[in-house]
Amino acid sequence: MSDGRTEERIALCEPFIGGNEWAYVKECLDTGWVSSVGSYVDRFEREIAAAVGRAHAVATISGTAALHVALEVAGVRPDDEVLVSDLTFIAPANAIRYLGAHPVLIDAEPEHWQMDAELLGSFLKRSCVWRNGELRNSATDRRVAAILPVHVLGHPVDLDAIIEVAEGYGLPLIEDATEALGATYRGAQVGSRGDLACLSFNGNKLITTGGGGMLVTDDPALADRARYLTTQAKDDPVAFVHGVVGYNYRLSNVAAAMGCAQLEQMPSFLARKREIANRYAEGLAGSAMQLMRVARWAQPAWWLSTVTTEDGNGRALRDLNDRGIMARPLWQPLHESPAHREALAVGGGTATEIVRKAVSLPSSVGLTAEQQDRVIETLLATEDS
Ligand SMILES: *Cc1c(COP(=O)(O)O)cnc(C)c1O
Repeated sequence: MSDGRTEERIALCEPFIGGNEWAYVKECLDTGWVSSVGSYVDRFEREIAAAVGRAHAVATISGTAALHVALEVAGVRPDDEVLVSDLTFIAPANAIRYLGAHPVLIDAEPEHWQMDAELLGSFLKRSCVWRNGELRNSATDRRVAAILPVHVLGHPVDLDAIIEVAEGYGLPLIEDATEALGATYRGAQVGSRGDLACLSFNGNKLITTGGGGMLVTDDPALADRARYLTTQAKDDPVAFVHGVVGYNYRLSNVAAAMGCAQLEQMPSFLARKREIANRYAEGLAGSAMQLMRVARWAQPAWWLSTVTTEDGNGRALRDLNDRGIMARPLWQPLHESPAHREALAVGGGTATEIVRKAVSLPSSVGLTAEQQDRVIETLLATEDS
C-alpha cells in the first residue's frame, strides 16, 4: 500500500451483493423460471411501486427502455419536442430520439445543478404559442409534447415549480428518477409526482439487477399500455396477433430476483451513501472544494458524491486516476454532444460551467473509510500543489 503502483484500485460505484441475491437467483435456476414471466418480476414490480409510493410499476430491460416507453405512452409522437435537462447522462435525450421526436435542452440552475424551472417557464411563455389547441414552439413550429426533468446525481429537481409549469400548459411530466431512487422532495419519494417516472437498475445505480429498469405511474391505463408495448404488443394470449409495433423490453425473472434482494438492502445502502457524502464534506471542509449543495426541499439519494474544484477538474481527475482512484467528470452537456448536435438549447452556459469544475468521487456502498481517506488526501494534495 505504500507506493502508488501497488495501491488497490478504488471503483467509482460498484454493486454491493450482500443479501439474498444468491438464494433468489438460485431459486429461479432451480425452478426453471428464468425468463420474463415469473414470481420475482411480479414481486419486484409490487415492491418498487410500494417503495416509490405509486399504484403501478412495469419492469423493463433497462432504464433507457423505461424512458422510451414512458415517452410513447405519454403521447410523444414523431416530430414532437420534449423539454429535457441539458445536464444529464445522455439516455433520456436518446429515448426522445428513438420516437423520432426532438429534445429541447433546458439548462441547469447553478445552485443544485437541476433543470432550471424558471428557464423552463420562460421558454414556454416566450417561445411557444397555442395553435388549434396545440402548444407549438414558434421557432420550429413543432408541437411541444412533454417535460422530462432528470433528478441529477440523486438530488431532486424543484418538483413543485416544474409541476406548476407542466400543469399550466397541460404537458405530461415524466420524471427521470434513474439516479434518485430513495431521494425525497419535501418528504415525498422522488418518482411519486410525475404522470410517469422511470428508474434504472444498471450496475452502477443504487440497487442493481445487472441491468434493468422500471416505469411507475398511478394511471392504470398508462401502466397497461406500457406493459403491452414492452411485450411486443401481443393482443392474444395464444395467437400471434400484434396490434402495433411493440418492443421486447421485459425484465427477466433472474434479474428481478436479484432486484428483490437488492431492494431489501436499500435502507442500509441509502444510509451508507449519506455517510459517504458526509465524510467527503467533512474531509474537504476548509478547502476550496465543495460537495454538491443540497436544496432546502431535498433529501438526496447521494447516488454519487460530486464535488466542484475551484479552477477546473483537470488536475483532480488526473491525480486521482493516476493513483488508481476512479474519479469521473460529469457528462458532456447535451448541447455540446455530437449525438444531439441539432437539438435546440435553452441556455447551456451553467451546465458547461458545472461540468468544467465537477468531479464525481468513489461512492460505492462498500467503500471503506480507509479508501475514502485516500481519496480525500489525494484531493487535498492536488489542491496544495
Ligand atoms: C442510468 C441512467 C438512465 C438509464 O440507464 P440504463 O443504463 O438504461 O438503465 C437514464 N437516465 C439517466 C440520467 C441515468 O443516469
